[in-house]
Amino acid sequence: MIVELDGRLLRRGDAAYEDARIDAIWNGRATTREPAAIVRARTIEDVQAAVRYAAREGLRIGIRSGGHSFVATGVRQDALLIDLSALNSIEVDTATRQARVQPGARAGEANAVLDKHGLVFPVGHYPTVGLGGFLIGGGYGWNSRKLGPGVLNIIAADIVLADGSLVHADDESHPDLMWAVRGAGPGFFGVVVCYHLRVHPAYSQVLRSVMTFPEELRDQVLAWSYEVLPETSRSLEIAGKTMWQPGIDRPVTMLIGVGFVADESADEIYRAFESCPFRDDALSLSERVPSSIADLHAVAEAGMPKGWRYALDGVWTSAPVAEVLDAGRSTLASVPNADSFLFWMLWGGYPTREDACWSTQGHLYFSPNSVWTDPADDLRMEQWAHSSLDAFAEIDLGGQFSDCNAADRPTHGLEPEQAARLEKLREVYDPDRRFVSYLRPEESTTALGRHLRSR
Ligand SMILES: Cc1cc2nc3c(=O)[nH]c(=O)nc-3n(C[C@H](O)[C@H](O)[C@H](O)COP(=O)(O)OP(=O)(O)OC[C@H]3O[C@@H](n4cnc5c(N)ncnc54)[C@H](O)[C@@H]3O)c2cc1C
Repeated sequence: MIVELDGRLLRRGDAAYEDARIDAIWNGRATTREPAAIVRARTIEDVQAAVRYAAREGLRIGIRSGGHSFVATGVRQDALLIDLSALNSIEVDTATRQARVQPGARAGEANAVLDKHGLVFPVGHYPTVGLGGFLIGGGYGWNSRKLGPGVLNIIAADIVLADGSLVHADDESHPDLMWAVRGAGPGFFGVVVCYHLRVHPAYSQVLRSVMTFPEELRDQVLAWSYEVLPETSRSLEIAGKTMWQPGIDRPVTMLIGVGFVADESADEIYRAFESCPFRDDALSLSERVPSSIADLHAVAEAGMPKGWRYALDGVWTSAPVAEVLDAGRSTLASVPNADSFLFWMLWGGYPTREDACWSTQGHLYFSPNSVWTDPADDLRMEQWAHSSLDAFAEIDLGGQFSDCNAADRPTHGLEPEQAARLEKLREVYDPDRRFVSYLRPEESTTALGRHLRSR
C-alpha cells in the first residue's frame, strides 16, 4: 500500500510534512491542528488509494483542494489530509457549453481558460480560490445574481466514495449524491475529483462603478441599496462596503456595482443603481469603468494579500432593513482597522431547488471581514468578525459554508430538513464516518475558540 502511495505520503515528523500542512492553509492565521499524514495526490487512482489507506489505518479523512477555507476545515487533528491541489485540469467542450474541472483548479485559471473559448463561469471573487471547496459550499461568484451560485451550475460529478470506488454521478444515475454535492460544503462524504459544469457565453462588457459616501450617510445609503435591489437588474452585482480610507477620519461606505453586459444594455443594467438619491453627495464617484474578471480578481487580491491574518463570518437575512441596521449598527460603527471591512452583499436570494441541498440564503449577506497581521490582535479581530454577529440572533437565517467558522460561532448552512436528509445519506455512503464533517467547537485553535472554552 505504501508502494501505491510511494512519494506521495508524508507522515507527521517527515521533513516535508510541515511545509505541506502549511501550504494547505491560505490564511496566515494557520490552525495548529496536525493531520497524522498528508497524501499529495497526482491522479484519481492516488485519491482512491489514499481513501483505502485511511480505512485500513483507521484514519478519518480531510480534504484540501485550493486551501482557501478561512478555518482550514480540511486540516484535522490526526486525520489523513488528501491534498488535491495537483488535480487541477480544466477541459472545455464549446459545443455543449460544458467544462470538466478538477477540484485543485483556481478561479483565475478557470476564468482564463474559459475566456479563450468566449465563455464564462461565476468563478469566485478571488483568483486563487479553489473550485473544489468553492463549488461544494455554494460558490457565490462574479455574476452569480444572474448565473446562479456555482453550485447550481454543477451538472455532474466524479466522486471517490468512502470504500474507494469511483462513481460518475449525474441526476439520473445518482440523484442523492448530486443533491448532496450541490451544497453540503465541508459536510460532504466523498472526494469530488471532477466537476462537470454548465458554462455561459462571455459578456460583451464588464463595467464597474463605485460611489463612496461619508459616514453620516452610511445607514441611508445601505437602506436604499437594500430596498432598490428587487428593481435592480440581475446582471448588476451590487455590494456595500464600510471601511476606513486613507486621509478620511471616519469610515466611509462604498456602493459597488459591477455590471455584466450580455443580453441587456448597460443603461438597463445600471438604471436603478444610478438613480441613487445620494449620488450628488458622494465623496467620490467612478462610473461604468471598463473592467474584466481578471481585473476584478487583481483588485480583490490586492485588498487581501496571502499571508495576512483573516477572520470572516456572515449572516443571511431578509428582515426589514431597519431591523438589519439595528442589528448591524455596532459592527458597522466599529470596523477595527484600516484593512478590515464590512461587506453588505445584496444577493437577493435564489429559488431553492429539489436537486440541491444548498438552501440557506436571503436578501442580504452581512459579512464582517477582519484583516490583520499581528497575532497579538487575534482575539479582538476574531470577536469583531464572529461575536459581533450575535446581535443578529432574531433575524439571522444562517450562514455560508464558504465563510462561516462553525467552531467559534456555530451556525447552519442548510435548512434543518436538508441537514437531516444529508445525515441519512451519510449513513448510506459513509457508515464508518470516514470523512470529517463540519468543525466542532472543541476543534477550534483560534484565540476566540480558546477564549470561549475558558468561560
Ligand atoms: C480570499 C478569499 C476569497 C474568497 N472569495 C469567495 C467568493 O467570492 N465566493 C465564495 O463563495 N467563496 C469565497 N471564498 C470562500 C471559499 O469559496 C471557501 O473557503 C472554499 O471552501 C474554498 O475552496 P478551496 O478548495 O480553496 O478550499 P479548501 O480549504 O481546500 O477546501 C475547503 C473544504 O471544502 C471541501 N472540499 C474541498 N474540495 C473538495 C472536494 N474535491 N471534494 C469534496 N469536498 C471538498 C472540504 O470540506 C474542504 O475542507 C473566499 C475565500 C478566500 C480565502
